[in-house]
Amino acid sequence: MDFKDKIRVIEDFPQPGVQFKDITTLLKDGKAFKAAIDELANRLEGKEIDLIVGPEARGFVVGTPLAYALGIGFVPVRKTGKLPGKVVEADYSLEYGKDKLAIHTDAIEPGQKVLIVDDLLATGGTINATLNLVRQLQAEVVGTAFVMELTYLKGREKIQDVDVISLLQY
Ligand code: 5GP
Repeated sequence: MDFKDKIRVIEDFPQPGVQFKDITTLLKDGKAFKAAIDELANRLEGKEIDLIVGPEARGFVVGTPLAYALGIGFVPVRKTGKLPGKVVEADYSLEYGKDKLAIHTDAIEPGQKVLIVDDLLATGGTINATLNLVRQLQAEVVGTAFVMELTYLKGREKIQDVDVISLLQY
């Protein structure tokens, strides 16, 4: 399936000059959504993974069905102030803006093998902060997986020591 046909590109969102890749058009198409998750699951076959960690909000939308497909657990990473339990935090900067991400300190055991999942890799800021959180909990990051990758923003270079899988490249 050509997933690129299912992604809508919106000019100047959320600010002038940004070409936003809108995944909602893929998500509402049941066949395409299932095919995308199945394709990610296939590409991960044979990889030992204990848990998927996904940053809010679209990391949940891609990460939870992938965790279900693989029969493993899902751990949310959220903007600071949202998780109810004890957390560790990491700063991050986006393609447009700055914020802090957090994870529950007891969400992952030291040494567990973690796959980090989000809808899109842009500058790598979000995924790098998520990596930082997982490593603060002494877990092992065995890879990252995305539906889309904006290769011109060179996010891969920020996470050089980690495997990157993406279904679509722009
Ligand atoms: P990065 O931190 O790699 O620069 O940006 C990636 C994060 O911002 C992801 O969590 C992603 O959901 C969001 N993001 C940035 N640009 C886009 C975009 O064009 N489309 C979508 N769907 N998400 C984006």
